[in-house]
Amino acid sequence: MNERYSRQTRFPGIGPDGQARIASAEILIAGAGALGSAAAEMLVRAGVGTVTIVDRDYVEFSNLQRQQLYTEADAEARMPKAAAAEKRLKEINSSVEITGIIGEITPELLESYDHVDVIIDGLDNFETRMVINDAAQKAGIPFVYGACVSSYGLSYTVLPGKKPCLQCILGTVPGGGETCDTAGIIGPAVQLTASYQTAEVLKLLAGAEDQLRNGLIQYDVWANETRTMGVDRLKRHDCPSCGENPVYPNLERGARTQTAVLCGRDTVQIRPAKHVAFEELRRTLASYELQENPYLMQVKLEGHRVVLFHDGRALVHNTQEPSAALSLYQRYIGS
Ligand SMILES: [Zn+2]
Repeated sequence: MNERYSRQTRFPGIGPDGQARIASAEILIAGAGALGSAAAEMLVRAGVGTVTIVDRDYVEFSNLQRQQLYTEADAEARMPKAAAAEKRLKEINSSVEITGIIGEITPELLESYDHVDVIIDGLDNFETRMVINDAAQKAGIPFVYGACVSSYGLSYTVLPGKKPCLQCILGTVPGGGETCDTAGIIGPAVQLTASYQTAEVLKLLAGAEDQLRNGLIQYDVWANETRTMGVDRLKRHDCPSCGENPVYPNLERGARTQTAVLCGRDTVQIRPAKHVAFEELRRTLASYELQENPYLMQVKLEGHRVVLFHDGRALVHNTQEPSAALSLYQRYIGS
């Protein structure tokens, strides 16, 4: 064990004490796409004690160019990312307690993880990111934000009570509307973002809070630009998430939608109020082209590939129209 982490403990910023703190720490990684994969692998190799990784999607061939935990076999079998990540991470470091959760990041899920030491952002959408922002503020947990698209990325560490939250700096966060679908993305932009995030996580876990980066860092690996923007002055005393009388608006039930267009996927996710059991689906969808693995079921309906999960969620492919996806779902599966 000593040998395993010897190079990391030799690094003065961590040392044996920092390593012991890292080993007893617990973290939550939100999303197991490109950023989540890269951060999870670094932190599991670094010996973080307990790691939970949550993702709602499954592996596809277009992920393999940058999502480092997954293989062709995972894409072939349409393995849920959380399950494939858990398996791979356990192979990397069996001494880490690793749990993959197939599902959504909801306020309820975050509440059951309100004891973790840090939450890491590996998400592809702002709606969920803001849910985490509020949950992290409420529980007083540091939240390491990161995002990337094309050849650029950014990262910022939210420290509850000390630094402005994402809600405060929202108007200043660059990049509007571009996704990996429209603009594409290259691996180095992912790796750099995950590295900036992971360095901050190691500082937090090792007790080196004084080393945390001050401000929001942005970079473009293609255009060779890097800059850090100070954000301290953006902290709002009346912020609904981190101000004097917080109401955590993003944890409200009404702030969550039933349908969501997935970034870069030409896919709409439906989260039904009441979900239909797989046994029933096997009967009602028997006359359609049905495929199943232990985690999900896939069926072809009117030219749309529809993937159904045990938690009730459905992904309707080949559309970006929530209303069309919902109507297809209601006609074949249930309301
Ligand atoms: Zn705020």
